[in-house]
Amino acid sequence: MPQVDYMVVGQGLAGTWVACYLLQAGYSVAVIDHSAAPFPSASRVASGIMNPVTGKRFVKTWQADTVLPFARQAYQQLEQLLDTSFFAQKPLVWLLQHIQDLNHLQALSAEPDYVPYIETVQATTFDPALQAHLGYAQLRTNCVQMPVFLTAFRQYLERQNALIETPFDHKDLTLLPQGVQWRNISAQHLIFCEGAAIRHNPYFNALPFVPAKGEALHIRLVDADFSRIILKNGVFIIHIDGDYYWAGSNYEHQYSTEQPTEAIRQQIAQQISDTLRCPYEIVGHEAAVRPASLNRRPFVGTHPQYPQLSVLNGLGTKGVSLAPYYAAQLVRHLTEGSPIDAAVAIGRFWN
Ligand SMILES: Cc1cc2nc3c(=O)[nH]c(=O)nc-3n(C[C@H](O)[C@H](O)[C@H](O)COP(=O)(O)OP(=O)(O)OC[C@H]3O[C@@H](n4cnc5c(N)ncnc54)[C@H](O)[C@@H]3O)c2cc1C
Repeated sequence: MPQVDYMVVGQGLAGTWVACYLLQAGYSVAVIDHSAAPFPSASRVASGIMNPVTGKRFVKTWQADTVLPFARQAYQQLEQLLDTSFFAQKPLVWLLQHIQDLNHLQALSAEPDYVPYIETVQATTFDPALQAHLGYAQLRTNCVQMPVFLTAFRQYLERQNALIETPFDHKDLTLLPQGVQWRNISAQHLIFCEGAAIRHNPYFNALPFVPAKGEALHIRLVDADFSRIILKNGVFIIHIDGDYYWAGSNYEHQYSTEQPTEAIRQQIAQQISDTLRCPYEIVGHEAAVRPASLNRRPFVGTHPQYPQLSVLNGLGTKGVSLAPYYAAQLVRHLTEGSPIDAAVAIGRFWN
């Protein structure tokens, strides 16, 4: 592939959706990705939840009414294209320990803004296999099996000869008057989707990132079956396959290593024990860095000084729901000249 229309660096959520929309629009693409040290993929560690309500105050996710329906349709269409199943609708059962939370959620559930998302709020125990709780809220939620989704799209790229499995070194990039050259490949345009590794990118590393490390345990649970729901009680517990579940996570802005740590393993294990009455076995432990931004909005757009370079990043804690919508917006911007939402456009940092 000596000449392509677009080069994309990274095949996490951002790069996958950018490449997907470019290919759908009929453009040729080369995706360069090295999902291993020193560039671990946050998307491969993520639990894949599209959570409509978040935080201690149960606030509706930013842009939920726009990005969630868009993402639902996008993942379902991609399942058909890839002939692979990775998207599901699963209620999120949020265990409530305080009467204030129960009252607050009951009030929210009557508000028109929250009606599509809060299915029920009950002052009873959800399941006897769980530790004591005052009540629970059940939210309408979707989730994506991230490794299945990313691997299926990677194989799709491979079949089209559109994947280059190698580290991308910015020193090998030459900016041409009408495009870019990297090794023996030239392209009209390059889109960086490097996640937290953007700190190594000399063109975009000044964007105000606030990386947030997160860890997750994989556990085996044989004495109870929570495969039809997502549990939330401090940590999320979500079914992977068979007897296996994902449990996490935490947020760390100051960390000395990007590797999993014993301290957080113990913290998450304690939170699982605070949730489940039944025994479980820890079978895996992962860590990754979320590419979060200072104001929790993504970074989308073309470099004001280098019109052949664009970026989709800053997806933070919400990459699963934000990536399809903003990748589509960026691709339309590049191919049709349509505008990018002011709240996410990177132009705001170059005044
Ligand atoms: C523990 C945890 C749980 C999470 N749970 C959720 C969740 O439930 N729902 C949700 O919406 N979000 C969740 N997130 C956040 C989500 O993972 C991120 O928003 C999302 O993955 C960011 O995607 P990205 O494509 O920008 O970055 P990444 O997924 O990190 O992708 C970047 C890709 O670029 C590659 N790369 C980078 N630099 C280079 C280079 N120089 N050369 C070659 N390849 C390179 C990397 O290998 C990687 O494949 C979670 C994150 C963590 C850590």
